[in-house]
Amino acid sequence: MTDIKSLTISELEFEMKSLALPSFRAKQIYKWLHVQGVMSFDGMLNLPKKLRESLKENYFIPSCDIEEKYVSALDGTVKYLFRLYDGEYIETVVMKYSYGYTICVSSQVGCKMGCTFCASTLAGFKRNLLPSELEGQIHCAQNDLGVRISHIVLMGIGEPLDNYGNVIKFLHTVNDKNGLNISMRDITVSTCGIVPRIYDLINEKIPVTLTLSLHAPDDKLRSAMMPVNEKWGVKEVVKACRAYAENTSRRVSFEYTLIKGVNDTPECAKKLAALLKGFISHVNLIPVNDVAERGNVKPSENAVKNFQFALKKLGINATIRRTLGSDINASCGQLRRIKNNNSQNGGDTSENSC
Ligand code: SAH
Repeated sequence: MTDIKSLTISELEFEMKSLALPSFRAKQIYKWLHVQGVMSFDGMLNLPKKLRESLKENYFIPSCDIEEKYVSALDGTVKYLFRLYDGEYIETVVMKYSYGYTICVSSQVGCKMGCTFCASTLAGFKRNLLPSELEGQIHCAQNDLGVRISHIVLMGIGEPLDNYGNVIKFLHTVNDKNGLNISMRDITVSTCGIVPRIYDLINEKIPVTLTLSLHAPDDKLRSAMMPVNEKWGVKEVVKACRAYAENTSRRVSFEYTLIKGVNDTPECAKKLAALLKGFISHVNLIPVNDVAERGNVKPSENAVKNFQFALKKLGINATIRRTLGSDINASCGQLRRIKNNNSQNGGDTSENSC
């Protein structure tokens, strides 16, 4: 069975031709799949029943069902645990800002990257998400909430550049005027720093915003926190980000998760400022979300502000990430982990998110 939702319009036209159907059927189906986001062939109301039956025999639409949903009483942030067609779980968060709704999508079921502070790796890597499953998170949330989502961040479970081909196909699909029509400029791809794929992304010539999860200003510290750094060190990855900024004229952002006593020292601020000197970039400071098994501690509010101030004094623009959905543990990784633990051990009490 072919995943019909991951086909481009020309691939779909080709498929319709092979079923001896006119190309306008492809356009109708494409609209149902990508504008309305229907999850069943029976929902394609302007198609003859016979055609719907024949589609069911040849294709499938990967499902995305709401397993759990949490709404923040503080700011309306919504967090979903979605169940996929093969029974795997992913997490997706929708946040409301003054400019519209932003969705944080997962790119993989689990993650291989092994960052020591992150919950996503703990439940293990299972598989890449299909382009249709990346997009399905948007349709499922939009249809549930009855709103239009205008911005996308690839900051959920998984490493987007480790699922490169499917992510690129997804970006083109959501950008398509005959689909969700979301501007590339309103999409952010966050990476732990897979350097060759950053250069590939430059060659795609699509103006998405790139965010690097930097978290440490030197190799010793970064390698201890992020195994990917053993392969591509701090200087190499920042060089790739500079190339991204120069080639796309897009400002690159750096995520810096602050962990008490680990990377929040004045020495770290100094090294970070030296590393990013002369780079028109932006640093997002995120006090770490404690993950029970990880044992990392959030610095005090004052310590976070001191770090920000130290960077500003050295000419580096930094903001402290506003926490949304703090009452529903909105950052990713923990719901899937709890769900998996529950099905394995019949119960889990661990709290805290990535
Ligand atoms: N793999 C991608 C995207 C997913 S993680 C990446 O590394 O960028 C999204 C962001 O959340 C990353 O910056 C990641 O480092 C950060 N993050 C993960 N666990 C966290 C935690 N416990 N506290 C704060 N931020 C965390």
